[in-house]
Amino acid sequence: MSKEKLQSPEDFFKKHKIGFDHDGVIANTRTPVVDEYNRIFRTNHTVDEMREYRTLARWAEEDFGISKKAALEIDNYLWFKRPDILLRARPMPGAVEITKQLADRKIFFPIITSRLPSYRQSTFEWYEEKMPWIKRDQIIIRENDKMKGEIFKARMIGLLGVNAFFEDALHHAEVIINHTDALVILLNNDSALDDFIGDKMIRIVGDNNQPPTLHDAQNTLFRA
Ligand SMILES: [Mg+2]
Repeated sequence: MSKEKLQSPEDFFKKHKIGFDHDGVIANTRTPVVDEYNRIFRTNHTVDEMREYRTLARWAEEDFGISKKAALEIDNYLWFKRPDILLRARPMPGAVEITKQLADRKIFFPIITSRLPSYRQSTFEWYEEKMPWIKRDQIIIRENDKMKGEIFKARMIGLLGVNAFFEDALHHAEVIINHTDALVILLNNDSALDDFIGDKMIRIVGDNNQPPTLHDAQNTLFRA
């Protein structure tokens, strides 16, 4: 663990301009998506098996021996064509606390998401219902789908001067680390990036192999 460990939240907030990813960091969207996949296909996958982008496509290929293309269609359908599924998501543990702490201190923090523009309205609605202290101007979402999601994220992190970004996907973390100066606080049980990334990343792991949350991040980063 790095030297960032165990400072007070105040020190951390003062030193860093913080930004958050939405899916898997603020909102527990994996749970309703995995539930829906299991419901449709009568499978028993767990949320912790989903550690990477396109996990649903990999499952569909392995579960049914279908083509990569057909598997990607299932992945796209569940993640990108069904805002109603994502609206069922509950906040991730710790997300309410940490964002409220920041809002109470009047600190601006962006939520930078690679969601498609078609999810704009439903994403705003989710925040209005679940976390009304997060305003629309804090929610940074693509206006078109020409730019890849992870490149959009890295660009916005750079443009907004975010220097500590909470992210859950390995590939997105890698792109952000390679394209920005931000420290990535990676919520992921997979150690694939650990050996070659060093000080630009702090990885947070979950208890008993559960998916890590902002609650785990607070325990790792902050003094009580
Ligand atoms: Mg995410």
